[in-house]
Amino acid sequence: MGPIPAGFAAGADGDLLIGRARASDLVREGTPVFAYDRDRIEEQIRLFRAAMPSYPGLKLHYAVKANPNPDLLSFIQPLVDGFDVASEREWHEVVRWDPMPISWAGPGKTELNVMDAVCRGVTLNIESEREFKLALQFWDREVRPPQIAVRVNPPFGLKGSGMKMGGLASQFGVDHERVAPLVRRIIEAGAEWRGLHVYAGSQSLSAEAVSEMQRATVGLAAEIATEVGATPPEVNLGGGFGIPYFAGDEELDIWAVGAALKETLDARPAILGDTKFVIELGRWLVGEAGVYLTRVVDRKVSRGKTFLVVDGGLHHMLAASGNFGQLLRRNYPVAVANRFGAEAEEEVTVVGCLCTPLDLLADEVMLPRAEVGDVIAIFCAGAYGLSASPQAFLSQAEAREVLV
Ligand SMILES: *Cc1c(COP(=O)(O)O)cnc(C)c1O
Repeated sequence: MGPIPAGFAAGADGDLLIGRARASDLVREGTPVFAYDRDRIEEQIRLFRAAMPSYPGLKLHYAVKANPNPDLLSFIQPLVDGFDVASEREWHEVVRWDPMPISWAGPGKTELNVMDAVCRGVTLNIESEREFKLALQFWDREVRPPQIAVRVNPPFGLKGSGMKMGGLASQFGVDHERVAPLVRRIIEAGAEWRGLHVYAGSQSLSAEAVSEMQRATVGLAAEIATEVGATPPEVNLGGGFGIPYFAGDEELDIWAVGAALKETLDARPAILGDTKFVIELGRWLVGEAGVYLTRVVDRKVSRGKTFLVVDGGLHHMLAASGNFGQLLRRNYPVAVANRFGAEAEEEVTVVGCLCTPLDLLADEVMLPRAEVGDVIAIFCAGAYGLSASPQAFLSQAEAREVLV
């Protein structure tokens, strides 16, 4: 199985501690439950700020899609410099913090989406020429012009990343060679050109790959800016910072990313002299802060294999079942929450309660002995957990979420 994130420990009674809360207290009101540790999120943001260059124009945005839990958003809001949203409901969750910077990316924006963004002064990261035309259409000339950044489909991708999103034909962004003429039209139309957005991939554990992508992004932004003949106020460098999920994964060297970014920014072409740079992160900020707790409801042996059947499953934690875009199913880090740190004694397979063989949460892992009533913890559940899972599938109970 994958590595349990550093810092998780047991209390005196062997009970897993999540932040200041004991797992046994968290499950008292019912399982399954996602617990998100606020201290861990804050610590991660502090680490980001310490490791990144102290360039004043470098901003950290939270990508809401990683975890849109309202309590988590309220907690993270004062700690980050902006939010990136990709849907109407994500926007609704964060617009109450207006005038905090909000940018809205994502394909398939409706007329209503574009109108909302234009009327509320949200930065539209336009994904197509159509979105630009709509923005002009909804511009009430009495008020502030539409804030438009262009999402670029770059000629490169994030090497080795979980989801490659660049260098290909894509529904995301405008092909890079078509960006400069579009930016000129934005400026000529009197809209406010906010800059460029490049997102080339996610879940990278390689500092070298992330740094290379950032270097390439700054280079591409400079080329486009030169062709336009104007300085982009902002360049969103994307994110792509990954976390270890599986056996053999090693954490991203954030200090190496920071050192390389300093070099890239120090050496940036003069046309980007006054540009602000944004890094947008989701999973790296919140992924390791979340633990999914689910209770064992049955223990059975079939043809020599021991199964622990739990009251949760892929309807809450799709990614742990290997069905969230993974090519190969591998085990997330798991533990018996009420016997945390106890010696592993037996090989078990943890399955969810859904009536489908896909509902496999941990396959043939070594754990301390667990009985009916014990609680299984699945780690790395803070990002792409509940909101990335088909909760309605099979109409089982909903999961609770708590910020601890
Ligand atoms: C998904 C996404 C993110 C967040 O990715 P993480 O891997 O969670 O950091 C950021 N920006 C855009 C445009 C995205 O689509």
